[in-house]
Amino acid sequence: MLEENLRRVQENIKEACLKANRAYEEVTLIAVSKTKPLSDIETLIKCDVHEYGENKVQELCDKFENVSTPVNFHLIGHLQTNKVKYVVDKTCLIHSVDSLKLAKEIEKESAKKNLISKILIEVNVAEEESKFGIGLKEALPLIEQIKDMPHIKVMGLMTIAPYVADPEENRVYFKQLRDLSLDIKSKNIDNVSMDILSMGMTNDYMVAIEEGSTMVRVGTGIFGERNYNI
Ligand SMILES: *Cc1c(COP(=O)(O)O)cnc(C)c1O
Repeated sequence: MLEENLRRVQENIKEACLKANRAYEEVTLIAVSKTKPLSDIETLIKCDVHEYGENKVQELCDKFENVSTPVNFHLIGHLQTNKVKYVVDKTCLIHSVDSLKLAKEIEKESAKKNLISKILIEVNVAEEESKFGIGLKEALPLIEQIKDMPHIKVMGLMTIAPYVADPEENRVYFKQLRDLSLDIKSKNIDNVSMDILSMGMTNDYMVAIEEGSTMVRVGTGIFGERNYNI
């Protein structure tokens, strides 16, 4: 079942790339394994999937410690400052930086462990009250404050689009994030790269790819529905 789902998602990514005249290799698929057992990850490792997304620090750490083969874990959920210390050495990319306070904590803990943490700035493009992330206009000022932190490297931007019935409704938000990333890139800020655009989930990743996404975060489409009541 997992293999079949994976193949279908990969085919869809190919199709979206073709439509957008982009190379398939430009888009990284992150399998969002949150709430799912480690055995699911082990199955997908056999299918050559090495990028996994988790939204809880504890769960990410548990899976990191117990997985049979080293894989890359992406922290995609909201990160509290008091949990930063547990996760900086276990994640390849933090997708959810949305405050100076959080960035300062990541800098501090990364310095202690003598490593450079790669991060994305989470932008709440649709300005949904229920979501984390900063406004479009706040992204550049925040990046200006982070750019000189020696143990952080800003790699790009991330957004979580609204849950909508028709993914076309989210196209405008993906476009806005892409435009913002191009705008920031054109400023050639030292130590800041805009190579990564993390946007698109099960419901809307094909539209996101058409609008320039380089990382899609797909959970349900690969693992099936999540059950939060266990
Ligand atoms: C859960 C989650 C996803 C995956 O959602 P699906 O709709 O299951 O693909 C992607 N990104 C973030 C930040 C998430 O929390």
